[in-house]
Amino acid sequence: MRLGDKHWWGAVVCCRCTGRMPVFCTPRDAGDHAKRIDEFIKDHIRCA
Ligand SMILES: [Zn+2]
Repeated sequence: MRLGDKHWWGAVVCCRCTGRMPVFCTPRDAGDHAKRIDEFIKDHIRCA
């Protein structure tokens, strides 16, 4: 599981700052949830 890899479902964890975000595979909210995930990645991609 790595940041920047969009094939995971379950949770995304930043190993550097220990930040984490649960990821739920909910089709109805997938669009909005994906945005939040992208934001998390943007915030933490620099940590790696
Ligand atoms: Zn981080």
